[in-house]
Amino acid sequence: MNGSNGLRDKLLRFMQGRYGADGLFYFMTAVYLALVFLNIFFHSWTLHILSLAVFVLTVLRSLSRNIEKRRRENEIFMTAVNKLRARAARSRRMREQSEDYYFKKCPGCKKMLRLPRVSGTHSTRCPACGEQFKVNIKPFRGKRTRAS
Ligand SMILES: [Zn+2]
Repeated sequence: MNGSNGLRDKLLRFMQGRYGADGLFYFMTAVYLALVFLNIFFHSWTLHILSLAVFVLTVLRSLSRNIEKRRRENEIFMTAVNKLRARAARSRRMREQSEDYYFKKCPGCKKMLRLPRVSGTHSTRCPACGEQFKVNIKPFRGKRTRAS
């Protein structure tokens, strides 16, 4: 018991003032493990060096005393992750609604428009920028998600 506590104290003291783990740390660890796993099949020196580089960077980041800089790196990373998540959520929502709605980007302002799914060619006007354009809506062919 005492021995392991001593080790923990030593570790805590060592990590004091150092950055530690964050979202980017876990992501880089996952990338490192994925590269190591891939290299079981590829036996490539490039992959080997790359995985070592990722590992060293991951460890150096967590031991860094430049906490502000590491925090900013993580912030940039998390912003990108959140953007991807939002995009995935949006395309999931679009898929779920595609039986009732047809999604079309406005050719004028690139805003995504949700149109009622009525098959045929229609003339429509973007509510955001007023651009008028024709849209050809095909009948729904995906998997039905609601009973009707
Ligand atoms: Zn528009």
